[in-house]
Amino acid sequence: MLSNKLKLITPSFTLGIASKVKALRESGQTIINLSIGEPDFYTPERAKEWAKEAMDKNKTKYDAVSGLKELKTAIIDKFEKQNDLSYRESEIVVSSGAKHSITNSLIAILNPGDEVMIPKPYWVSYPEMVKLTGGIPVFVDTQKDNNYKVTPEDLEKSFSPKSKMLFITNPSNPSGAVYTREELLEIGNWCVKNNIWILSDEIYEIITFDRPFVSMASLSDAIKNITVTVNGMSKSAAMTGWRIGYTGSSEELALAMSSIQGHLVSHPSTISQWAAYGAMAFCQDETKKMVETYKSRRDIAVKLLDDAKDIYLIKPEGAFYLFIDLSAYKSFFPEAESFSIAFCDKLLSQKKIAIVPGIAFGMDNFVRLAYACDTDILVAGIEGIKEFLSELE
Ligand code: PMP
Ligand code: GLU
Repeated sequence: MLSNKLKLITPSFTLGIASKVKALRESGQTIINLSIGEPDFYTPERAKEWAKEAMDKNKTKYDAVSGLKELKTAIIDKFEKQNDLSYRESEIVVSSGAKHSITNSLIAILNPGDEVMIPKPYWVSYPEMVKLTGGIPVFVDTQKDNNYKVTPEDLEKSFSPKSKMLFITNPSNPSGAVYTREELLEIGNWCVKNNIWILSDEIYEIITFDRPFVSMASLSDAIKNITVTVNGMSKSAAMTGWRIGYTGSSEELALAMSSIQGHLVSHPSTISQWAAYGAMAFCQDETKKMVETYKSRRDIAVKLLDDAKDIYLIKPEGAFYLFIDLSAYKSFFPEAESFSIAFCDKLLSQKKIAIVPGIAFGMDNFVRLAYACDTDILVAGIEGIKEFLSELE
């Protein structure tokens, strides 16, 4: 009795593991949770103050579909100052989380059967979002010696006359890889040449450690015209539950997305939008401190994993994830349909440590750890994983 679309999709792995952890904790077990990518910080006070004030002043009515004027102005200012990227108000759409921004973009761009190129490893929800909006996900293999960052050569191999769009995640979830200006320029120019939309998911922009972040659309006018820049408040200001994401794009696409959003949700919660405004306008210092903390955790984690036997770690330059190649341990799970699921299940039941199987990101030989948690928990988790690996042998 339900839509055939449901046969094509699987529920979110990351959210599924998060609820499994919650249930185990409620049953009295102590779990080290390195699974979900959710900042462990609280939303900055100034952001909350703006939300409280909005409620007190009864700013609780319907408002502009594409987002509050004040918030859009703060977003434009951020693009200008941090990304050297100039968008007009009519080119910004504020939505209920970056997930919503991405699905709005897909609904606006795709016709049934259009192909969307998704480099591997990919963020867990991309393929399902594409399928739900009538498109066909086409996975693009990337190379280990390029830290699994996609190149035009990789794209050529998956390109077809039906290719309509390319997803770029920079910094990457799950690998933490960050693209250089040159790498982005090559990809951007390839998309211009082949008339492919770029969805540049920059939600982890602020969490970039070792090199300056470069926004795809800032590279040239031609690239900007075909790029949807996706960003949001979940990671940059620890505001996951408020559900605020936004896009910068051509005016034509912004209008289309706004019209879609107008019918589906009207607009994101006005209270959340005021909180986002408070965060964007007044909470840069808090954000900076969060990023410094992530960096120190990254350094500790990479060092700890340095002597782990037979693993390969992509050194993350951004986001808050470690993506670890465990191919050498596959032979310990000969019966498993999915090695990474079997590995993570066993780790959870034996060591009470929750991480995400790489199959969720299209690479079954890998697992993902999130270091969006206290250093003590992170250290205990990594030590536990190392112990688990040594016991497998
Ligand atoms: N893109 C990536 C790469 C993500 O990891 C996530 C998860 N936070 C999102 C988009 C969605 O973020 P939001 O909470 O804003 O919907
Ligand atoms: N994006 C985060 C993750 O990959 C949060 C979970 C989700 O939104 O699916 O863990």
